[in-house]
Amino acid sequence: MERQAVKRAREAFLSGRTRPLEFRLQQLHALQSLITEKETEISTALKQDINRSQYDTPLLELIGIENEIKLAIEKLAEWAAPQPVEKNLLTISDEVYVQPEPLGVVLIIGAWNYPWAVTLLPLVGAIAAGNAAVVKPSELSEYSSLLLRALLPRYLDKDLYPVVTGGVSETQELLKQRFDHIFYTGNSTVGKLVMEAAARHLAPVTLELGGKSPCYIDKNCDIRIACRRITWGKFINCGQTCIAPDYILCEPCIQGRVVECIRQTLLEFYGADPKSSPDYGRIINQRHFNRIMSLMEGYTPVVGGQSDAPQRYIAPTVLKDVPPHSRLMQEEIFGPLLPIVTVSDMDDAIHFINEREKPLALYIFCTDKKATKRMIEETTSGGVTVNDVMMHYTLSSLPFGGVGQSGMGCYHGKHTFNQLSHQRACLVRSLGMESVNLARYPPQDRRRARR
Ligand code: NAD
Repeated sequence: MERQAVKRAREAFLSGRTRPLEFRLQQLHALQSLITEKETEISTALKQDINRSQYDTPLLELIGIENEIKLAIEKLAEWAAPQPVEKNLLTISDEVYVQPEPLGVVLIIGAWNYPWAVTLLPLVGAIAAGNAAVVKPSELSEYSSLLLRALLPRYLDKDLYPVVTGGVSETQELLKQRFDHIFYTGNSTVGKLVMEAAARHLAPVTLELGGKSPCYIDKNCDIRIACRRITWGKFINCGQTCIAPDYILCEPCIQGRVVECIRQTLLEFYGADPKSSPDYGRIINQRHFNRIMSLMEGYTPVVGGQSDAPQRYIAPTVLKDVPPHSRLMQEEIFGPLLPIVTVSDMDDAIHFINEREKPLALYIFCTDKKATKRMIEETTSGGVTVNDVMMHYTLSSLPFGGVGQSGMGCYHGKHTFNQLSHQRACLVRSLGMESVNLARYPPQDRRRARR
């Protein structure tokens, strides 16, 4: 099944039908129709997978996909055009340009937390760049996966863009096949397996991974507004967002106020009982529910802490004075727990961040522009947003991706197109002006005489 899908995609790619831009544009328009016509079905699938609010699905996934499709349609001719580059004296009368060209067959492996965005955003770039793509959604977001498998062939070329569903064994079977690029979104343990498999075929990879994204709050900023923005980014999708603020760093003198502001905001967002709020999600499965619950063991939350195993519900939870070496601070939380770690000042926060793995995102709440710039300069992360969370993700012009353990490669907008294209160096000259070339031909004596 997996093998057949890859073989058919390769044959379809080799037929050459993805080369004309008209074909790519037609497929992009068809993908756009899928999103607009099937919005209700997609929202329903996500409600079943993760209890995602019907309001959040367009906001968090579908509008972003539609915008990326629109951008690709508008800019495709420009992105795909040969780019003339500088010449030197020897090539002054030649044609010299970089020609983006398709790589071949791309494998897209997606995670479950935003199952439509993590599969379709890379697919937009794969189609625009003229590739075939095998799409492997996560088995954990089962309703979304099955819907994607049913819908994609109804809108797109069946052979070029097959959907393969299944879990670990199906993905491993796929990874034995030869691809021209592998685009993986998920955790870093599996990311290493993907890279190992890719190495066997020397296939390039994009790894969109996760990690602990820190959020520093300076004591002089407007803590009420900062906490509103943080509460939204942390608890949306029940904390299961790769760029959610993982933990807060702040000075002890503002910790109490931070806790109170988050408590107030939670009340405003989800009411006194978040379990009955239509806006509050659920944990994807029992394994993740147990994992998140075990992270809280030994701590008394200052906000939340309640849970309901059969419903896979964990209340929005805040923990204060969390020791830097606790388990909560060792692994990505990927759930609705927000630890606060106190630091003595911004320098201490910078030191804390730099002692750990390079994060996918960094958030800085600070009104002192100089201090903010310094914090950006003295740390590293995949991306950074100042005085808000996650908003850098929404811009197609910014490359989205990790660094170090949080990933490699990047995408969104033209970055996806470039990531999934080969930048071919082209030099086209005539057979004239042969006298200019004599200086490089042997024998040595003649060359010397000509100088
Ligand atoms: P997951 O369990 O759905 O796994 C991701 C994919 O890998 C799935 O398609 C799955 O079938 C496959 N897979 C799982 N185990 C495998 C194995 N042993 N061999 C081969 N394939 C295997 O998702 P996850 O890993 O739980 O996703 C959550 C992680 O993804 C978090 O770390 C999160 O931060 C990260 N994430 C990153 C981004 C990003 O854009 N950087 C986006 C979403 C999620």
